[in-house]
Amino acid sequence: MQPYRFCPRCGAELEHLPMSGRFRHACVRDGCGFVHWDNPLPVLAAVVEYEGKLLLARNAAWPEKMFALVTGFMERDETPELGVARELKEETNLDAVSASLIGVYEFMRKNELIIAYHVRAEGDIRLSEELVEYKLVAPDKMRIWNAGTGFAVADFLERRGLPVRFFDRATGEDIADPRRPTDFSLASASLQYGINQN
Ligand SMILES: [Zn+2]
Repeated sequence: MQPYRFCPRCGAELEHLPMSGRFRHACVRDGCGFVHWDNPLPVLAAVVEYEGKLLLARNAAWPEKMFALVTGFMERDETPELGVARELKEETNLDAVSASLIGVYEFMRKNELIIAYHVRAEGDIRLSEELVEYKLVAPDKMRIWNAGTGFAVADFLERRGLPVRFFDRATGEDIADPRRPTDFSLASASLQYGINQN
Protein backbone atom coordinates (compact mmCIF):
# COMPACT_ATOMS: atom_id res chain seq x y z
CA MET A 1 0.00 0.00 0.00
CA GLN A 2 1.24 3.48 -0.86
CA PRO A 3 1.73 5.57 2.27
CA TYR A 4 -0.59 8.52 2.80
CA ARG A 5 1.01 11.79 1.68
CA PHE A 6 -1.55 14.11 3.20
CA CYS A 7 -3.40 14.00 6.46
CA PRO A 8 -6.89 12.52 5.93
CA ARG A 9 -8.08 14.57 8.91
CA CYS A 10 -6.75 18.08 8.17
CA GLY A 11 -5.03 17.92 4.77
CA ALA A 12 -1.54 18.90 5.93
CA GLU A 13 1.44 17.11 4.42
CA LEU A 14 2.44 14.16 6.59
CA GLU A 15 5.93 13.70 7.94
CA HIS A 16 7.88 10.49 8.36
CA LEU A 17 8.81 10.35 12.02
CA PRO A 18 10.04 7.75 14.51
CA MET A 19 7.19 6.79 16.82
CA SER A 20 6.78 3.69 18.98
CA GLY A 21 9.70 1.82 17.47
CA ARG A 22 9.15 2.52 13.78
CA PHE A 23 8.95 5.36 11.33
CA ARG A 24 5.32 6.41 10.79
CA HIS A 25 3.58 8.91 8.61
CA ALA A 26 2.22 11.45 11.08
CA CYS A 27 0.59 14.85 11.03
CA VAL A 28 2.49 17.54 12.93
CA ARG A 29 -0.05 20.34 12.52
CA ASP A 30 -1.04 21.77 15.90
CA GLY A 31 -3.95 19.98 17.50
CA CYS A 32 -4.36 17.30 14.80
CA GLY A 33 -2.40 14.29 16.03
CA PHE A 34 -3.23 11.94 13.16
CA VAL A 35 -0.81 9.00 12.81
CA HIS A 36 -1.03 6.42 10.07
CA TRP A 37 -0.14 3.35 12.15
CA ASP A 38 -0.52 1.04 9.16
CA ASN A 39 -1.53 -1.92 11.28
CA PRO A 40 -2.59 -5.12 9.52
CA LEU A 41 -6.25 -5.41 8.63
CA PRO A 42 -8.09 -8.52 9.81
CA VAL A 43 -9.47 -10.77 7.09
CA LEU A 44 -11.83 -13.64 7.72
CA ALA A 45 -11.27 -16.92 5.91
CA ALA A 46 -13.45 -20.02 5.84
CA VAL A 47 -12.44 -23.65 5.43
CA VAL A 48 -15.96 -24.60 4.36
CA GLU A 49 -17.13 -28.14 4.97
CA TYR A 50 -20.10 -28.92 2.75
CA GLU A 51 -21.53 -32.39 2.22
CA GLY A 52 -18.34 -33.95 3.59
CA LYS A 53 -16.09 -32.01 1.24
CA LEU A 54 -14.13 -28.79 1.41
CA LEU A 55 -15.19 -25.91 -0.78
CA LEU A 56 -12.63 -23.89 -2.70
CA ALA A 57 -13.56 -20.96 -4.89
CA ARG A 58 -11.96 -19.00 -7.66
CA ASN A 59 -12.19 -15.25 -7.68
CA ALA A 60 -13.00 -13.58 -11.00
CA ALA A 61 -9.74 -11.62 -10.78
CA TRP A 62 -7.54 -14.71 -10.31
CA PRO A 63 -5.76 -16.81 -12.91
CA GLU A 64 -7.46 -19.95 -14.12
CA LYS A 65 -6.98 -22.99 -11.85
CA MET A 66 -6.29 -20.81 -8.81
CA PHE A 67 -8.70 -21.77 -6.06
CA ALA A 68 -8.67 -20.71 -2.46
CA LEU A 69 -10.79 -20.18 0.62
CA VAL A 70 -13.76 -17.89 0.85
CA THR A 71 -12.45 -14.71 2.46
CA GLY A 72 -13.66 -11.24 3.27
CA PHE A 73 -13.13 -8.25 5.51
CA MET A 74 -14.84 -7.89 8.83
CA GLU A 75 -17.44 -5.19 9.08
CA ARG A 76 -17.84 -2.82 11.98
CA ASP A 77 -20.11 -4.17 14.73
CA GLU A 78 -19.92 -7.83 13.86
CA THR A 79 -18.22 -10.74 15.54
CA PRO A 80 -15.71 -12.70 13.46
CA GLU A 81 -17.99 -15.76 13.57
CA LEU A 82 -20.95 -13.81 12.21
CA GLY A 83 -18.65 -12.05 9.75
CA VAL A 84 -17.41 -15.30 8.27
CA ALA A 85 -21.00 -16.59 8.08
CA ARG A 86 -22.07 -13.39 6.31
CA GLU A 87 -19.20 -13.62 3.80
CA LEU A 88 -20.06 -17.24 3.09
CA LYS A 89 -23.70 -16.34 2.49
CA GLU A 90 -22.83 -13.37 0.27
CA GLU A 91 -20.31 -15.26 -1.82
CA THR A 92 -21.81 -18.77 -2.05
CA ASN A 93 -25.38 -18.52 -0.70
CA LEU A 94 -24.53 -21.23 1.83
CA ASP A 95 -25.72 -21.03 5.42
CA ALA A 96 -23.16 -21.52 8.16
CA VAL A 97 -24.20 -24.08 10.76
CA SER A 98 -21.11 -23.65 12.95
CA ALA A 99 -17.85 -21.72 12.90
CA SER A 100 -14.85 -22.77 14.98
CA LEU A 101 -11.49 -21.06 14.99
CA ILE A 102 -8.64 -22.86 13.22
CA GLY A 103 -6.02 -20.18 13.81
CA VAL A 104 -4.64 -16.78 12.99
CA TYR A 105 -2.12 -16.36 10.18
CA GLU A 106 0.08 -13.69 8.71
CA PHE A 107 -0.49 -12.27 5.27
CA MET A 108 2.29 -9.69 5.33
CA ARG A 109 2.37 -9.20 1.59
CA LYS A 110 -0.96 -7.39 1.87
CA ASN A 111 -0.53 -6.16 5.45
CA GLU A 112 -3.44 -8.34 6.51
CA LEU A 113 -4.04 -10.80 9.31
CA ILE A 114 -6.03 -13.91 8.45
CA ILE A 115 -8.50 -15.24 10.99
CA ALA A 116 -9.46 -18.69 9.74
CA TYR A 117 -12.55 -20.66 10.72
CA HIS A 118 -13.77 -24.14 10.02
CA VAL A 119 -17.32 -23.49 8.86
CA ARG A 120 -19.85 -26.26 8.46
CA ALA A 121 -22.33 -25.18 5.84
CA GLU A 122 -25.55 -26.27 4.19
CA GLY A 123 -27.89 -25.03 1.50
CA ASP A 124 -27.60 -24.55 -2.26
CA ILE A 125 -24.48 -23.08 -3.77
CA ARG A 126 -25.01 -19.95 -5.84
CA LEU A 127 -21.88 -17.93 -6.45
CA SER A 128 -21.75 -14.16 -6.23
CA GLU A 129 -20.38 -12.14 -9.14
CA GLU A 130 -17.05 -11.97 -7.30
CA LEU A 131 -16.56 -15.72 -7.73
CA VAL A 132 -16.57 -17.52 -11.06
CA GLU A 133 -16.06 -21.13 -10.10
CA TYR A 134 -15.95 -23.47 -7.14
CA LYS A 135 -14.90 -27.02 -6.46
CA LEU A 136 -15.57 -29.50 -3.71
CA VAL A 137 -12.53 -31.48 -2.65
CA ALA A 138 -12.47 -34.57 -0.45
CA PRO A 139 -10.38 -33.62 2.61
CA ASP A 140 -7.92 -36.49 2.05
CA LYS A 141 -7.36 -35.34 -1.56
CA MET A 142 -6.63 -31.74 -0.68
CA ARG A 143 -3.49 -30.10 -2.04
CA ILE A 144 -2.44 -26.97 -0.23
CA TRP A 145 -0.97 -23.72 -1.52
CA ASN A 146 1.92 -21.94 0.17
CA ALA A 147 0.26 -18.93 1.84
CA GLY A 148 -1.50 -17.97 5.05
CA THR A 149 -4.88 -19.36 4.06
CA GLY A 150 -3.14 -22.57 2.94
CA PHE A 151 -1.56 -22.89 6.39
CA ALA A 152 -5.06 -22.76 7.87
CA VAL A 153 -6.08 -25.67 5.63
CA ALA A 154 -2.92 -27.55 6.67
CA ASP A 155 -3.66 -27.07 10.37
CA PHE A 156 -7.27 -28.12 9.83
CA LEU A 157 -6.25 -31.34 8.04
CA GLU A 158 -3.38 -32.13 10.40
CA ARG A 159 -5.64 -31.98 13.47
CA ARG A 160 -7.90 -34.54 11.82
CA GLY A 161 -4.99 -36.85 11.02
CA LEU A 162 -5.40 -36.23 7.28
CA PRO A 163 -2.52 -35.93 4.82
CA VAL A 164 -0.94 -32.48 4.52
CA ARG A 165 0.34 -31.99 0.98
CA PHE A 166 1.60 -28.64 -0.22
CA PHE A 167 2.09 -27.76 -3.87
CA ASP A 168 3.60 -24.90 -5.84
CA ARG A 169 0.87 -22.89 -7.52
CA ALA A 170 3.21 -21.87 -10.35
CA THR A 171 4.43 -25.34 -11.32
CA GLY A 172 1.77 -27.64 -9.87
CA GLU A 173 4.55 -29.73 -8.28
CA ASP A 174 4.44 -31.02 -4.71
CA ILE A 175 6.68 -29.12 -2.30
CA ALA A 176 7.94 -29.67 1.23
CA ASP A 177 5.83 -28.32 4.07
CA PRO A 178 6.76 -24.60 4.04
CA ARG A 179 5.45 -23.88 7.53
CA ARG A 180 8.18 -22.90 9.95
CA PRO A 181 8.12 -22.65 13.71
CA THR A 182 8.19 -19.07 14.90
CA ASP A 183 11.55 -17.94 16.21
CA PHE A 184 11.09 -15.29 18.87
CA SER A 185 14.74 -14.22 19.16
CA LEU A 186 14.94 -10.57 18.18
CA ALA A 187 17.50 -10.94 15.40
CA SER A 188 15.54 -13.67 13.61
CA ALA A 189 12.28 -11.87 14.19
CA SER A 190 13.70 -8.79 12.46
CA LEU A 191 14.76 -10.87 9.48
CA GLN A 192 11.63 -12.96 9.47
CA TYR A 193 9.36 -9.97 9.48
CA GLY A 194 11.52 -7.54 7.51
CA ILE A 195 11.49 -4.96 10.27
CA ASN A 196 13.48 -1.88 9.40
CA GLN A 197 13.52 1.69 10.50
CA ASN A 198 13.04 3.40 7.16
ZN1 LIG B 1 -3.63 16.45 10.31
